[in-house]
Amino acid sequence: MSRRVRGTVVSEGLARGEALVVATGEVSVPEGHVSEHQVEREVQRFRRAVEGARTEIAREEKAARERLGEMSEIIGWYLTILADETTLLQPIEAMMRRERFTAKYATFRRFSEVAAQFEGAGEPMASRVPDIIDVKRRLIAHLRGGRKPLGELERLQRKVVIIADDLTPSQAASLDREKVLAFATDRGGPAGHTAILARHLGIPAIVGLDNVTSMVRSGEPVIIDGLSRGEVIVDPNQDDVHEYQVLSRRLQARRRRVHLDQERALTKDDVPITILGNIDRGEQVGGLRELGVEGVGLFRTEFLFLGNTAPDEEAQREHYGRLLRDMAPHSVCIRTMDFGADKWDHRVGGGKEPNPFLGMRAIRLSFAHEGLFRAQLRAILRASLEGRCQIMFPMISDAAEFRRAVGVLDSVKDELRKEGIPFDERVEVGAMIEVPSAALTVENILADADFVSLGTNDLTQYTLAVDRTNPLVAEMFVPHHPAVLRLMQRTVAACEVQGKRVSACGEMAGVAEYAPVVLGLGLTRLSMAARRVPDVVTRIRKLSREACRGVVEAMMAADGAAAAHKILTQFNRPPTSRRRQTR
Ligand code: PEP
Ligand code: MG
Repeated sequence: MSRRVRGTVVSEGLARGEALVVATGEVSVPEGHVSEHQVEREVQRFRRAVEGARTEIAREEKAARERLGEMSEIIGWYLTILADETTLLQPIEAMMRRERFTAKYATFRRFSEVAAQFEGAGEPMASRVPDIIDVKRRLIAHLRGGRKPLGELERLQRKVVIIADDLTPSQAASLDREKVLAFATDRGGPAGHTAILARHLGIPAIVGLDNVTSMVRSGEPVIIDGLSRGEVIVDPNQDDVHEYQVLSRRLQARRRRVHLDQERALTKDDVPITILGNIDRGEQVGGLRELGVEGVGLFRTEFLFLGNTAPDEEAQREHYGRLLRDMAPHSVCIRTMDFGADKWDHRVGGGKEPNPFLGMRAIRLSFAHEGLFRAQLRAILRASLEGRCQIMFPMISDAAEFRRAVGVLDSVKDELRKEGIPFDERVEVGAMIEVPSAALTVENILADADFVSLGTNDLTQYTLAVDRTNPLVAEMFVPHHPAVLRLMQRTVAACEVQGKRVSACGEMAGVAEYAPVVLGLGLTRLSMAARRVPDVVTRIRKLSREACRGVVEAMMAADGAAAAHKILTQFNRPPTSRRRQTR
């Protein structure tokens, strides 16, 4: 009998296929014992699991080496961990013989002890903890013989729907778009980076499903309805399949392509809107060019480092250079690394703080790891002559912090000049406005910035005190809240006064329903994922900016998000139903 479970759609779309249930989170294993005569058999089972995990990782390393050259070093390090007889393997065996622990529990216990020792030893040892935990997870998955560890995803033989407890952005970044039809997770919120990545990759995704991993078994047929209901349908019946086929045809019809050369983003009262693209890898520029967008408004560079890659200065220079050439003559806004919060990298730590979104994140981490920051700035500057390059700093909270970031950039420029390395002296520098303190003091930031971009995802999160990744408060994550709109409005107004460019690059800019809001606020530059462009442009062409201004004024005066949303919904409703309602 078909079973249904409802969650939050974070990447729109439909999929039908076979489920693959994967274990991705931290594992916890209860204490377990075997009888005296089973001990040696259990030890052999442990050794076989170590071999199995080693073979799996060696295969991954080989594939990564072919794909990424020397950047496969993290995976190689996993092999070193698995070969460590003194610290890990022999102590585990000794524990099994002495205490008659199950292989699973002895593995869990020893790896956890070693992780705690590394953690306590401070940097650089502490930054290895996520790797130790990942190897522990893989080894336990082999001992369980059931759920597949995430590593399996990299060599999928068939197309599958991934069912997982959660996916980190780096895990999502390594998904094979050809083989992964969709994913559904127990945890996760609508505005986290995993969700954003799913939208960029065009993978339908539903999160916050609570217990989908215990409802589905690998191999069972599932439908992901990320279009009408936001449901995962397990073991669908004929009616479910029929409904899926109807929806699927409707979706195809909706996804007609728009080319901005033929169909410009022009409002009914002739205000031209510049459409820019958000990307997380240079390769995505092809899709943007096909649509005719006028530049890249946000390149989230941290994704280059996630998913087992760690490009050095030279590899980054090549990547940025290729991207700038591919996008020329249009500009590319390269945002410096925004690690921390839900995106961590083993070299900068992160993910271990009680409140990571309010902790060491983005520009704060860049200052703390100045070597990495400078290497990135050198790479960007060295590539800058290949096209029209802009640099943007994330999570700036005030003018002093922005000046400090510009100071590092200036010192990198001096270094390059001394080395006789040419770069574009006119590279523009901007700040993301995504922290309320920055929006409230934007006039001061603009004194030094060439442009700013509104990061509505974080601006919403920090203004409303709503964690963007937490499904428990997902309904409160509302960028149309009057407080968020007022901060956006004052940012746009300050830019107008100082004659500086302002764009919006948060998810709000790419949602057709919000087009009246961003236009009404006076924004004329919107940056979004390629897949969002057709719907947004179609909507813009039906709007007059004057009418939008009135809507936003009313929304800003509303007493809360619900009232503001009502005003917007009434405005967005097609005229026929509006007439019907007033009759
Ligand atoms: C934002 O916060 O709106 C933004 C564009 O940055 P990110 O989503 O990468 O945090
Ligand atoms: Mg942000």
